[in-house]
Amino acid sequence: MPRKKDTPKTTLYRCAAVRDARRVDARPAAVLVRGGRIVAAGARDAVEAKLPKRGEHDVVDLPDRLILPALVNAHAHLDLVGLKPEPYGGDFAQWIAKVTEHRLDDKVDIEADVRGALRDSWLAGVGTIGDIAFSPRSVRTWFDWPANDPIAPDGATPIEGVSYLECFGLGAKQEAAYEKLVEQLNDLPFDTPLTDTVRGTVLGISPHAPYTVGVNLYKKVVALSQARAYRLCTHMAESPAEIEFVRDGKGPLLDMRRAMGLSDDIEPTGLHPIDLLHAPIRAGRWLLVHCNLIEPGHVPLLRKADASVAYCPVASDYFGLPGDGRKHPYRDLIEGKVNVCLGTDSLRCQPADEPQPMGVLPQMRHLYRRDETDPALLLQMATTNGMRALELDEREATLTAKTPADLIAVQIDPDDETDALTQALRNDSVVERLIV
Ligand SMILES: [Zn+2]
Repeated sequence: MPRKKDTPKTTLYRCAAVRDARRVDARPAAVLVRGGRIVAAGARDAVEAKLPKRGEHDVVDLPDRLILPALVNAHAHLDLVGLKPEPYGGDFAQWIAKVTEHRLDDKVDIEADVRGALRDSWLAGVGTIGDIAFSPRSVRTWFDWPANDPIAPDGATPIEGVSYLECFGLGAKQEAAYEKLVEQLNDLPFDTPLTDTVRGTVLGISPHAPYTVGVNLYKKVVALSQARAYRLCTHMAESPAEIEFVRDGKGPLLDMRRAMGLSDDIEPTGLHPIDLLHAPIRAGRWLLVHCNLIEPGHVPLLRKADASVAYCPVASDYFGLPGDGRKHPYRDLIEGKVNVCLGTDSLRCQPADEPQPMGVLPQMRHLYRRDETDPALLLQMATTNGMRALELDEREATLTAKTPADLIAVQIDPDDETDALTQALRNDSVVERLIV
């Protein structure tokens, strides 16, 4: 028998309802946690029957709370939180120029911003993130969170996920961009990139977008990801300006490049970015962010390539995309068996009055309220689909027995017979963290 002080802590959470994207859906409900792992989650009677016969346990009563697993934000820019929410001015090139200016500003304290963004994400109920790191400084800061954060909340568990190191290089700049990327990756604390993770954070690579990265650099990045098992992510088919730049070699993004003194050896390709990058998309396993402006033929192409799509509904609507009365094709993608998950994109695109702008529940609520999307599908997009997109263990975003208990709670009305998850999507309760 282990000594008493070694006995793992056991807690029974009695709640109004519990839900995950697999099998758990119960009301009234309970979750039993032992030593930081789920023992059981589901109907209250069945879970209480699993209480240990001997030894002590704590009971936490949450009679008006729905318990969910922590959510997955498949696309964020933690190092851009210094750019606060601001309305979109209507000029995509100008908007991007402002982001670039912020990134090149030496006075920005990247480490403090990333720590703050991780803290706010955690408090908003996010357990896993796909982050785009503009520099290795962002990657390193995440590796050590919450240990390196003097004001991390008590009991904060590490946020896991993929830190995608970003690269940029068009035309003649591609070779130098690739060499810089390899140098940066080699400097990061990974002994064996094939298998290594640091505190649950995995390394990925992100060529920024088809209007800043050439086809050759995309191809080289795919080869590197295969040699070293780095995850892959890129922004794709986000704006009409991107399509115009890639297809016709002109438009506001070309003007922006010229204003920034960047090379203008840009040739029109006559192709949509997905068609231009068909070969590297097929060769790698990609997380494609946005896909606001795709053609119907792209759905089977993305399915065959086993690509995932991160849809950031608040950010897409912020930019008024896809525009021309068209709707984002997330339903077509899902129908075509493409894995679609949810992301926030940068803080700048979130509403200024959103209390938890780093959270994923506001993204779910946005889609539910706009499209009446099926709540069960939204929960799947916000948990297991996100894990699949990041190539992480899907079970860790569920309440399956033996998985780490990373639990969140949302207030609902226990006397209202409306489905508990639907209530959480209709109301404006903030997400709370349960410290297990
Ligand atoms: Zn983004």
